[in-house]
Amino acid sequence: MGSIHENLKILFFPYFAQGHMLPMIDMAKLFASRGADVTILTTPANSPLILPAVDQFNSSSTFPIPIRLHLIPFPSDAVGLPEGCEHLSSLTSNTTQIAKFAEAVSLLRNPFDRVLKELRFDCVVSDFFLPWTYDVAADNGIPRIIFEGSNFFAACAVDSLERHKPLESLPPEEESFVLPGLPHRIELLRSQLQDNTKVVPFMIPVIEIVKHAREVYSKSFGTVVNSFYELEPDYAEHSRKVLGRRAWHVGPVALCNQAEVDKSGRGGGGKTGEECLRWLDERSPGSVLYMCFGSICNFTATQLKEMAMGLEDSGHPFVWVIRDAGDEWIPEGYEERIEGRGILIKEWAPQLLILNHEAVGGFVTHCGWNSSLEGIAAGLPMGTWPLYAEQFFNERLLVDVLGIGVEVGSNVFAILPEDRPVVKARDLEAAVRRVMGDGEEAEERRRRARELKEMARKAVEVGGSSYNDLGKLIEELREKKKEQIV
Ligand code: UDP
Repeated sequence: MGSIHENLKILFFPYFAQGHMLPMIDMAKLFASRGADVTILTTPANSPLILPAVDQFNSSSTFPIPIRLHLIPFPSDAVGLPEGCEHLSSLTSNTTQIAKFAEAVSLLRNPFDRVLKELRFDCVVSDFFLPWTYDVAADNGIPRIIFEGSNFFAACAVDSLERHKPLESLPPEEESFVLPGLPHRIELLRSQLQDNTKVVPFMIPVIEIVKHAREVYSKSFGTVVNSFYELEPDYAEHSRKVLGRRAWHVGPVALCNQAEVDKSGRGGGGKTGEECLRWLDERSPGSVLYMCFGSICNFTATQLKEMAMGLEDSGHPFVWVIRDAGDEWIPEGYEERIEGRGILIKEWAPQLLILNHEAVGGFVTHCGWNSSLEGIAAGLPMGTWPLYAEQFFNERLLVDVLGIGVEVGSNVFAILPEDRPVVKARDLEAAVRRVMGDGEEAEERRRRARELKEMARKAVEVGGSSYNDLGKLIEELREKKKEQIV
């Protein structure tokens, strides 16, 4: 660590959703453990989601500068949102509240500017979905680094679509196409992409934000990526050489949560989570399937019923996180039938602890990038069930490039659950049997997954690729700071 004068003062500003906050808190901890003076900026109702992890870090850390939390009010009132509605998962209706939420977030621009002026940072690391932070940081003369929350592969896939426009030349009767110019042959279905001619009205503000975010992309200082070089070397190179991006791979950031208490403190974890961990203690190694769809996805009752049957029919023990889906859809007698063989978690689950439990042998995921990378770092083969965002790209990475994924059969990009065709119980059952089975193909997937787990661990160790890249970024920022002082 350098002298106190060289300590970088960095402000982290995460977007208000667990899938964005959790990796950014981990990233903040990584910077702090390398000597940076770190502040996390958020709003009052989001503070309880961040504070336990920060307190935990500060009390166990041997580093001289504790991580600070700085709060600015969230203007729920000004846009007509209920008080305390400051987090994506606190929205009760996508259709009526997303636009208001987006507007409230954009109103944080002036408070953010005041924070930069008052507290004077050397650099801002802010979420991709807060593109105006670039403009404000630039006005204050400091670099802004983007936290994109995704991986190199997905960025290259998006670039391929924009650069080569393969859909424009695709005959209307054809459904599948290959993404041009990528290091591997990656085939997608038309239905797996957001159809820009059928954007649901409530998503228009979000699309505008993404447009703005792309515009300021190349002007920002660079991007920190929650990935590691050995996972996707071809795409890290492609991103640099073809996309011309400056990016530092510093992940898997979740591996900084080594202690059990850190893993469990990540976003809470309730009573069933604890029961589930005790239940897992009694299961044999690699025997249990874990299924979870991240922090914001929801499903129709019909789809939930098919899922319930698929898991039951697979014959494998399972843990399924359904969170706040209610009970009405649960098939009659289901919970009695699965007793001893399956656990439904109806609240926030301690996902890192579950994934890393030795009884867990497979993971059905919606392919959110955090979950995907956490599954990789835990050495698990995965059943892939993407829904929207860049999840269909992540599925291709897991299945085609890394060889650790089995598609469940979700092929339509749709944000609203009722717009998605129902995936049948038999498709889930078949995918679970393949992931958890013991044939040659399943063994090979397991072998690959174990290999990637080892690579992930090495990447974040002292001297590993992610450890070194983070070091390079910190060094570069220190140099920049010195230039500014001179
Ligand atoms: N997560 C968790 N418990 C849950 C659901 C999710 O700990 O019950 C965590 C999960 O470990 C991951 C994050 O929430 O770190 C979800 O991020 P991801 O990118 O996978 O999906 P998103 O929620 O953004 O769709």
